[in-house]
Amino acid sequence: MALYDYHCQDCGEQFTQSEHISDHTSALQGSASPLRCPKCNSQHIESMVSAAYVHTSKKS
Ligand SMILES: [Zn+2]
Repeated sequence: MALYDYHCQDCGEQFTQSEHISDHTSALQGSASPLRCPKCNSQHIESMVSAAYVHTSKKS
């Protein structure tokens, strides 16, 4: 299990969810039960993990 940070694009809610890597991937691809915002129940969720990774890798 790993922790992932998510950000709701509709209401701006940030939340953390623990899940397997495979669940994380399938959820983002929409092939499994979609992620939902715990606050507004929106499915417009983006992962903050990849964003942080890109930001870090740009530093040279
Ligand atoms: Zn929301």
